[in-house]
Amino acid sequence: PPERRGRLSERDFFDHGALVAVLTTQPLDRLLDYKAPEGGCMTGAFVEVPLGPRKVLGVVWGPGQGDFDPARVRSVIRVLDVAPMRDEMKTFLTRAADYTLTPMPAMLRLATRAPGLSDPPSMRKVYRRGAGDPDRMTDARRRVIAALDDFGSLSFTLKELADMAGVTTSVVKGLVKQGVVREEDSPRDLPLPRLDPARPGKELTADQAAAARILCESIRGESYGTTLLKGVTGSGKTEVYLEAVAECLRRGRQALVLLPEIALTAEFLTRVQSRFGALPAEWHSGVTMTERRRVWKMVGRGEAQLVVGARSALFLPFQNLGLIIVDEEHDTSYKQEDGVLYNARDMAVLRAAICGAQVVLASATPSLESWANAQSGKYGMVELGSRFGPAVMPEMRAIDMRAEKMQAGTWISPTLRRAVEERLARNEQAMLFINRRGFAPVTLCRACGQQIACDHCDSRMVEHRFLKRLMCHQCGETRPIPTVCPSCGAEDKLAPVGPGVERLGEEAAQVFPDARIAVLSSDLFGSARALKAEIEKIAAGEADIVIGTQLVAKGHNFPLLTLVGVIDADLGLQGADLRAAERTFQLMRQVAGRAGRADKPGTALLQTFQPEHPVIRAILSGDETAFWRTEAAERDAAGVPPFGRLAGIILSGPDVAQVFDLGNALARNDAPLRAIGAQVFGPAAAPIARIRGRHRVRLLVKAAKSAPLQDALARWIAPVRLKGDLRLSVDIDPQSF
Ligand code: ADP
Ligand code: ZN
Repeated sequence: PPERRGRLSERDFFDHGALVAVLTTQPLDRLLDYKAPEGGCMTGAFVEVPLGPRKVLGVVWGPGQGDFDPARVRSVIRVLDVAPMRDEMKTFLTRAADYTLTPMPAMLRLATRAPGLSDPPSMRKVYRRGAGDPDRMTDARRRVIAALDDFGSLSFTLKELADMAGVTTSVVKGLVKQGVVREEDSPRDLPLPRLDPARPGKELTADQAAAARILCESIRGESYGTTLLKGVTGSGKTEVYLEAVAECLRRGRQALVLLPEIALTAEFLTRVQSRFGALPAEWHSGVTMTERRRVWKMVGRGEAQLVVGARSALFLPFQNLGLIIVDEEHDTSYKQEDGVLYNARDMAVLRAAICGAQVVLASATPSLESWANAQSGKYGMVELGSRFGPAVMPEMRAIDMRAEKMQAGTWISPTLRRAVEERLARNEQAMLFINRRGFAPVTLCRACGQQIACDHCDSRMVEHRFLKRLMCHQCGETRPIPTVCPSCGAEDKLAPVGPGVERLGEEAAQVFPDARIAVLSSDLFGSARALKAEIEKIAAGEADIVIGTQLVAKGHNFPLLTLVGVIDADLGLQGADLRAAERTFQLMRQVAGRAGRADKPGTALLQTFQPEHPVIRAILSGDETAFWRTEAAERDAAGVPPFGRLAGIILSGPDVAQVFDLGNALARNDAPLRAIGAQVFGPAAAPIARIRGRHRVRLLVKAAKSAPLQDALARWIAPVRLKGDLRLSVDIDPQSF
């Protein structure tokens, strides 16, 4: 609410009955006045207020405006027993709302994602690992113990523990009787284990030590700054930034480490534990409700020293945040594509700038945005030259698929096959990479030539043989694999076309009959824990060939792996996406980086039909600077990020004509945009033209770097009245353009 912005820094106490303005999580476009409750309340207090017949969560934002009928102003029901929201958090939410053009209530919802925050404090039972042994072991009991061992620092309610282990609550109760599981009171305020930043870390190489010194020095300044920490996979970036975390903790400030995938947290937690002697707090979708509530409160009290989490952890109520690490900063999953559209990397920088913290962006293949910021001196840059120890970057070569003799329906070329066989003969591991989930990307009817498409989306149904279903990767809908063509009714004519990771697994099993093959794709594992177990088995050498999707490209250590074969290096280069080159370059370098991490040199082979393509050549030569320069020059010439500004307006609705009408009307009334010299493109079908039965149309707005884009956008869309089921969302810095 812009009219209240001047009041952000007030830290008033309001006596019983005084008028306060409350921001609620409800979709209202203004603050509401209430009377302070008995005992009074502070600015920033989390409160429960009546709204119509309901009780809703809110934050006391400042003094009331008095523009409501005083007789009808109701009282705050109660002040919640949590630390009040700090001014810097209010500033952060306000600025993030301005940047992303998001209403404040939606921002507040992000900042209060701790279920049961408003529950009254009460004693309840939690369950942890006890010292006892079971009288006899059953499968169900083993699962309970495994769940507790995996998440040893966490506490669960009875139901959560039973759900995690997939057993009934009576199994857990039986284990409590025998002392295998301990029952304790009051989970909420159970203290977190203390991390000890005085413990010595690994002995660093000269390169690493120099990098760590620079980061630690910047933290001692206790002011804002961003540093790009660049170094090939395995160069020790994690070791280095853990030193920065240690320095931050020694100064009594809180640290946050963002990771792009939950699957990566397990390995990271282990490293934190061995570095600091205890596990950090975790914040992501895999964390139980009880634990979330506890972490939220502990962060708010300043007691959580280190949080490891997903992008939403940026909205936790830190009291004294000194450092944010964004690991794999180039990763596209940092962009939230649902609800509030924000990029966690950019929000991390904003948050740090407001609270005087340091940001470290770690990557082997930085985003062009961060690279350009480092070039211009806006960000600092620290580089780790080589891999730790004897490991070197793999040798990279292309396999020219035009010269390979391929049988129809196979994707492993003779050259790649020989390379894998050599590794198998030496008891080394090989990885085959294909960035496609499922069995085959297309299911085609050989009678009528139609592909099976999703009924609700502009998307094909992908066969998942493991699940025995077809799945839409847009909306997630699945259905049984039909035997009859839905278009022409022909029987037994449906055929899978093209390779997916599951199909590649089948081919590999035929080509390498004696090899132990592990297929890693998110669809094949029921839980993050099952996936983690599989990854550990591979790292321990219990597989000869690893076949995987994007999931394997990120951060895992497989010390025995010496060969990576990329099945289709051209895949990402198709389509008109301007970021395609950047993404392909990053992904290929990341995947290749899996090979040769320990004492054995690695090789990466890229199957391609266009070995002379400039991006493929850049990947092979590894000349990153040349690649970034070329890419930057092209983007600069096109006036797109990071050299110009872009925003997408997505309009959606069930009726395609109506959606286009609205888009055309917006495009015609572009005076606010013209006023800042911005251009509008479209309306055109959005990159995904239909999702869940809703047609999507996009307008793209392009402006100069210095133009006040958000203000102009706000003025442009303000008059829009959305009729019926039409929806509008703003996407600042869209991922694809
Ligand atoms: P990155 O984050 O750049 O991929 P890591 O920090 O994960 O690199 O380091 C790669 C591997 O090398 C890890 O197993 C790590 O423990 C090890 N390593 C890195 N630096 C050192 C060091 N100075 N002493 C001992 N081991 C190290
Ligand atoms: Zn769908």
